[in-house]
Amino acid sequence: MSSSPAPTSADHTAPAAKKRPQANLTVLRTERLGPHMVRVVAGGPGLSAFEPKGFTDMYVKIHFVDPAAGLAEPIDLAAVRAELPRDRWPATRTYTIRRFDPAAGELAVDFVVHGDAGLAGPWAANAVPGDTMIITGPGGAYRPDPAADWHLLAGDDSALPAVAAAIESLPATAVGHAYLEVDSDADVQPIQAPAGLELHWVLRRGAPAGTGSALADAVTAGPWLAGRVHVFAHGERESMKALRDVFFKQRGLERSQVSLSGYWAYGRTEDSFQAEKKQPIGKIL
Ligand SMILES: Cc1cc2nc3c(=O)[nH]c(=O)nc-3n(C[C@H](O)[C@H](O)[C@H](O)COP(=O)(O)OP(=O)(O)OC[C@H]3O[C@@H](n4cnc5c(N)ncnc54)[C@H](O)[C@@H]3O)c2cc1C
Repeated sequence: MSSSPAPTSADHTAPAAKKRPQANLTVLRTERLGPHMVRVVAGGPGLSAFEPKGFTDMYVKIHFVDPAAGLAEPIDLAAVRAELPRDRWPATRTYTIRRFDPAAGELAVDFVVHGDAGLAGPWAANAVPGDTMIITGPGGAYRPDPAADWHLLAGDDSALPAVAAAIESLPATAVGHAYLEVDSDADVQPIQAPAGLELHWVLRRGAPAGTGSALADAVTAGPWLAGRVHVFAHGERESMKALRDVFFKQRGLERSQVSLSGYWAYGRTEDSFQAEKKQPIGKIL
C-alpha cells in the first residue's frame, strides 16, 4: 500500500451548490441498458461549466424543477437559494457520472428504473433529447488504490455505474473480485475488466431490490485473496450494514481500506434517506 492511500470517506449530504458549480445540460440521447437501467447522455454548451475530479465514484446532484413552485428552467440555483424558502427549491437526487467525454462533449449518467415511484427514475425513463438536466458538482471520494494487492468491489444496481467506472479504470495487471447485484440475467452489463478481476453477478430473481442479503452472502461465500485489499461497496443501506459486518467484524479490515456507504434506503425517498443519516438507523459506520 502507498503511504497516502486514495481517499475513502464520502459526504453525500454536503450542500453541493455552495462549493460546486451548476451546469445546465441538454439531453442528447438515451440508451436502454436493460429492463432496469437507462443511460442518459447529456451535453450542450452548459457542459463547459462541468469540472471533473479524479475519482471513479464522481457524483453530481441533479436538480428537478417543479413548475408548481413557480420556477421555470433554466434556473440559477444560487439565486433560488438566496431568494426563496427551502420548500420552493428544486428537489435533488444524487447520481454517479458513468462516463465523461470532454472531446465528444458528452456526460453519461445511468439511472435505475425502479417503477413509477420517485422523481429521478421516472424522469430518466421518459427523458427525450432536448430535455434539461441541471447538475451541481461533482463530488467524489474513491479511486482504486494502485498499491493495493487486490480489489473487492460490491454494489447493487444503484452502484453499478460507480463499480463499473472503477473496474474500467484499473490497470491490466489488477486482480480482485467484483459482486454486482441485479434482478436478472437481462440486467447484466458488459464491463471491460482486467483478466485478473472476476465479475460475480448476484441475481435477485424477482425479489424486490433492497430486501435481501444476497450481496453480503455472496461476498461472504466468495474467495478472499492474500495481501492487502482495497474495498469499494455501495448500495441499499441495510445491505451495506450487512457488508460492514463482513469487512470489519469477519475480515478485520482497517477503516482506510474500505469505501462503504448507503446510496439509497428501501421505502425511503432520497430526502428521507439523507435526513435519516443523522439518526441511528441511518448510520453505517
Ligand atoms: C453518491 C451516490 C451515487 C449514486 N449513483 C447512482 C447512479 O449512478 N444510478 C442510480 O440509479 N442511483 C444512484 N444513486 C442512488 C439514487 O440517488 C437513489 O436511488 C435515489 O433515491 C433515486 O431517486 P428517485 O427520485 O428515483 O427515487 P426516490 O424519490 O428517492 O424514492 C422513491 C422510492 O423508490 C425507492 N428507490 C430508490 N432508489 C431505488 C433503487 N435503486 N431501486 C429500487 N427502489 C429504489 C425508494 O426506496 C422509495 O421507496 C446514488 C446515490 C448516491 C448517494
